[in-house]
Amino acid sequence: LVSRKKKPEDTIVSVNGATIGDGNTHFVMGPCAVESYEQVEKVAEAVKNKGVKLLRGGAFKPRTSPYDFQGLGLEGLQILKKAADKHNLAVVSEIVNPAHLEEAMDYLDVVQIGARNMQNFELLKAAGDLDKPVLLKRGLSATISEFINAAEYIISRGNGNIILCERGIRTYEKATRNTLDISAVPILKQETHLPVMVDVTHSTGRRDILLPAAKAAIAIGADGVMAEVHPDPAVALSDSAQQMDIPMFNTFMDEVIDVANKF
Ligand code: PEP
Ligand code: MN
Repeated sequence: LVSRKKKPEDTIVSVNGATIGDGNTHFVMGPCAVESYEQVEKVAEAVKNKGVKLLRGGAFKPRTSPYDFQGLGLEGLQILKKAADKHNLAVVSEIVNPAHLEEAMDYLDVVQIGARNMQNFELLKAAGDLDKPVLLKRGLSATISEFINAAEYIISRGNGNIILCERGIRTYEKATRNTLDISAVPILKQETHLPVMVDVTHSTGRRDILLPAAKAAIAIGADGVMAEVHPDPAVALSDSAQQMDIPMFNTFMDEVIDVANKF
């Protein structure tokens, strides 16, 4: 059902006035994890000032180590929603457990399924039963075909409001956290009718190359860009090395919007 052969027209996912898949560049910006209201509110204000419509932030964090910050859970979603409402932003946040979906619905505009859960089939099915857009991230080592099949799990249950997100895959290369598979973008656009975003933060894991990666994403036809922003990345409880601070985010947005206007 996600195949372009079944439906030649592009799917457009509408959230808070953003029409993702319409040929323009859309943005999902915010901290890696929700840490406090003050932290999220500062980012929300900056994000809003640049015309971004979707605010991200992790509340249920799928961490590699059980000893790392696990997120604030439902309280994190409440904080995110409060800051988003103040600035008229939509909320994007990851859910890791189907049992959390129902209580999360009051706080979320887009349900994110993270890389580590791309093949959590029960979560995919539960997301497919929702009446909310799903932002599905590519698995850590998933092929494009496996990624498309994960989206098929969601649409097969009735929910076709899916945004695919390339976030880098595991390769032998160690210069970046993951390897951004930029060619996945046009392939996913050809093979499916779904909008495709690129997460430049988790794919590169390097603040110094977020901007060129975002430019490449736009040039190759991505419908949107995701990146992480924190008021003080040095003290962030997760992904400290790769989040932008607010001045860097402002410059990033100015340059990226400039490139987006050329395409
Ligand atoms: C995230 O976007 O917060 C995240 C954890 O990313 P990924 O699932 O792509 O690793
Ligand atoms: Mn992160």
